Amino acid sequence: MTSSDPTPRPMSCPEMVELLTTYLDGALDDADRAAFDAHLALCPGCVRYLDQYRETIAATGTLAESDVDPGVLAALLRAFRDWRASRSGGAV
Ligand SMILES: [Zn+2]
Repeated sequence: MTSSDPTPRPMSCPEMVELLTTYLDGALDDADRAAFDAHLALCPGCVRYLDQYRETIAATGTLAESDVDPGVLAALLRAFRDWRASRSGGAV
């Protein structure tokens, strides 16, 4: 994940999730970080996801670089989908 794309580009939710741990490590390059922040500005769901992720890290301990448990990530993705499904059509 070290492609140095100089132009900010729209980021999809799965891409954002993929870069999340790198973002939290502060290890994104400028272009990816800009795209990540731009996505967060447009996607409340991912802001919520980021919050949940941080809470999970706080609950489970530190998150080592490049040492994310795929099971944890899968669980978070499921929780994210459930959350999105649960608020379909509902006001906050
Ligand atoms: Zn998103």
